[in-house]
Amino acid sequence: MLWKKESNGNDSMYVDLYALNGGRASFDKVDCFARQGKPSSTFNKNGVVSLQKRNEGDKYFSQGKWTRAMELYGESLCYAEHGSKNVNLAYANRSACFLKMKRYNECLIDIELAKEAGYPANLIPQLDQRKEECLKAIDEGAQPVMFEPKLSFEPNENFPCMANVLKIDRDAQGDLGIFAKEHIDVGQTIVVEKAFMTYLYTHHGWKCNICLKEYGNFVPCKKCTVAMFCSEECQGNSLHKYECGLRYSDSVMMNGFIMRVVRGCLLAIDMFSDADELMTFVEQAISSDRNQIPSTLLDEKSQYEAFLKLPIKPASTEHHEFMINLTIAFSAQKLLMRIPRVNSMFKLEKYRRFFMHFITHQYQVMENNSFICGSNHDDMDDDYVPFESRTGLMIGYKKHSCAPNVMVSRTVGHKFGLITVRPVMKGQQILHAVIVPLLTLSKRERHQILWQDRKMLCKCARCEGVTASKVLCKRIQSDPDYQYITQQSIPPTRGDDDAKQSMQTMIDKCERFLRQYGQTAWCNEFGRVVTIYMTLVDRQ
Ligand SMILES: [Zn+2]
Ligand SMILES: [Zn+2]
Ligand SMILES: [Zn+2]
Repeated sequence: MLWKKESNGNDSMYVDLYALNGGRASFDKVDCFARQGKPSSTFNKNGVVSLQKRNEGDKYFSQGKWTRAMELYGESLCYAEHGSKNVNLAYANRSACFLKMKRYNECLIDIELAKEAGYPANLIPQLDQRKEECLKAIDEGAQPVMFEPKLSFEPNENFPCMANVLKIDRDAQGDLGIFAKEHIDVGQTIVVEKAFMTYLYTHHGWKCNICLKEYGNFVPCKKCTVAMFCSEECQGNSLHKYECGLRYSDSVMMNGFIMRVVRGCLLAIDMFSDADELMTFVEQAISSDRNQIPSTLLDEKSQYEAFLKLPIKPASTEHHEFMINLTIAFSAQKLLMRIPRVNSMFKLEKYRRFFMHFITHQYQVMENNSFICGSNHDDMDDDYVPFESRTGLMIGYKKHSCAPNVMVSRTVGHKFGLITVRPVMKGQQILHAVIVPLLTLSKRERHQILWQDRKMLCKCARCEGVTASKVLCKRIQSDPDYQYITQQSIPPTRGDDDAKQSMQTMIDKCERFLRQYGQTAWCNEFGRVVTIYMTLVDRQ
């Protein structure tokens, strides 16, 4: 039976949830998790909450905390009933934040949004005055440049997310990897990937629900409080057209957990016209060789095929994990079946088994290959609260090493990049460290962390014993660049001109050092410089 075998021949990759449930595609015991019908305070528009959020925003604004004020005005917009005065007042107040943050273009757009939403005529002169201030500042060339990762080379023809100095090929073990076609210097951005799938767990007033861009001229969904959009593209083509009004639980966190799976499924479902088409595609992708070199990642279907082939963990035999998977799959299925298009696609009995496995697979791929940002909540002991998730496709080709030659750059919205931290010679593989603090730890410590965190047994060159000689370590220790780099403190992110200058000096020294020793075997001194260089590039 398909769906029980993975291409590498491992069976029992999936637990047959459908069979377990006696061939029924609903599971009554998890019904209690999916609350239906009753109006919810968190998800419905509410003028009172909107006003509260705006007042709170005003409080922060008067304290000079523009960013926090802006977040609250965004939330005020989310709760404001479409067409109400809360909408235009929130836009107007947000424009004041943009002005203070010197983001003049955004300020001008918010002023127009406030006017379009019916800002009171008697207050318009205030807005016009703000507009004048913006135009004057723009005339004087004061618009700050926003950071955006950009490829240092022309993009590859078939894989536009990576530079044309790279190719996808098989490594010595037969696994897919990224390789250099020519020599690449230190500090080059060689991959800029747009996440294939994103999810925002909590609804923020300052992030686009689709592309996760921050601090833009976000416009709220007219119907719900969950989503804000940065552009017509994000609003128009988004999966939110299916998701709007759908919810699993009143708890924002629990809701996000299941709704992420729902979005992952919708992303695929939206590409196909009927269940047979989706089923054929998915079965073909899963049963074909995982290590076949893809010819392109240009169109959405080849991207989806790459997504389906991303590695997943073997099915767990632990009861606890099994129950979680079961609950997630059935809860997501229940929600999905409430969407008319999905319901009409999968209502026939013959599709139900596939549908359950499809949901489980989408979930497992996301679970195993996503980059999740979050924070530790103060009032919940060591509970990690995620707030956004990005699933990229290049992760399938990135090989881990405790002696990496690239780092993951700062993420901007759904974009993240790879920057070289050592020179990469022609034919060498692109290697990144899944956990950065590993770079300066001993082999024992590294293996402990990798096993605890990722169930990984690392066999990289460094772990296999290719390390620098004592003589080389000594030479590095007495290198003037090494001494300078390790003795200076790292300048702050948005420092003054002096800080910027010392940041540049440190980066130059690091690059010179990394160029000189980058091809020699790894040692802790070298790891220290790589770690410092990564921090500097991130703060730049
Ligand atoms: Zn967006
Ligand atoms: Zn909505
Ligand atoms: Zn290793």
